[in-house]
Amino acid sequence: MKIETPYYLLDERKLLCNLRRIARLKRRSGAKCVLALKCFSTWAVFPLLRQYLDGTTSSALYEVRLGAEEFGGETHAYCVGYKPEEMPAIRRYANKVIFNSLSQLDHLAPTVRPRSIGLRVNPGFSYSHYELADPACAFSRLGVRDTAAVRRAVECGAVEGLMFHFNCENADFPALVHMLDRLTAQYAFELERVRWVSLGGGIAFTNDGYPLEALAARLQEFTRRFDVQVYLEPGEAVVTRTTELVTTIVDIVHNEADIAIVDAAVEPHMLDLLIYRDPAKGVAGATGGPHRYRLAGRTCLAGDVFGDFAFPRPLRVGQRLRIQDAGGYTMVKKNWFNGVAMPAIVVRRLDGTIDVVRRFGYTDFKNSLS
Ligand SMILES: *Cc1c(COP(=O)(O)O)cnc(C)c1O
Repeated sequence: MKIETPYYLLDERKLLCNLRRIARLKRRSGAKCVLALKCFSTWAVFPLLRQYLDGTTSSALYEVRLGAEEFGGETHAYCVGYKPEEMPAIRRYANKVIFNSLSQLDHLAPTVRPRSIGLRVNPGFSYSHYELADPACAFSRLGVRDTAAVRRAVECGAVEGLMFHFNCENADFPALVHMLDRLTAQYAFELERVRWVSLGGGIAFTNDGYPLEALAARLQEFTRRFDVQVYLEPGEAVVTRTTELVTTIVDIVHNEADIAIVDAAVEPHMLDLLIYRDPAKGVAGATGGPHRYRLAGRTCLAGDVFGDFAFPRPLRVGQRLRIQDAGGYTMVKKNWFNGVAMPAIVVRRLDGTIDVVRRFGYTDFKNSLS
């Protein structure tokens, strides 16, 4: 069976490799891991993820609900700005509710009791290669910066937990350790008084060669010192290297360079490449060689480019190209720009079965507008 392109192909065996690393970290450290749905919400594979992860965390009500309905386990709610009318639903779906500010904590925490209440703290430092994704950037609204106010909130028992999300694609373990040391020095008083602490996402601990045992030891030490339940909120680390965007070359044009145009596009299907100005991580078969191509999408945006890749043989129209590492921050962000056909979602199950779990058509495009 040949599936019509474009489609995202998620490979459960590859997911399992990441999940086993996560399981090892959990076992050795005592930390719990909840999936950050804003990175990846493809619920067709939740039955597999659920066996290894403790639940989900979210950025807004619909994610909270999806986590509760389709994943189960622990459902953490977080939102940069809740609306009062959303709180009954938040309370229904979430076990833990994390507030982003003291004003929202004061006003809205009473509406979600007896759920466990947390507060996001901005420690004033972070690790990110991108200014756009730096939670400790100047004027950041992400978490409470006022240390005296955090202390008061903890002291009066208004919060049971704290959340620090201060990493983005951090593969540098010594840098992480340094920041954890700063965190524990800066917030020792608070950490000794809460029951749970989430260290957020953004730690690239499922990468090959990451010092997983050392991270586990550091987290275990943190747990013991403060007598807290530690949580991590991995998103990218769960789905990295598991998913391809499978495309077909529809044309090859030449303008100083050879440009292969595929039946997908960057802005609607892999938006983060455009936002962070990164090329795609790789293309299957682009192993180097004399045949260099610029790989481009088929929208009218001049910068709709996946990247430049070199192949051992010339490409031809009709040939399939598999763009790699298309799992995180892709399907959750897809849009209908240019009315380009939306990639289907396809899962290669553990037993090798190929499941086309979702196809999108003209009606979906039309119904997304009115
Ligand atoms: C984005 C985000 C995550 C997940 O980040 P990854 O880099 O995908 O691991 C976790 N927690 C919070 C609060 C976030 O904003």
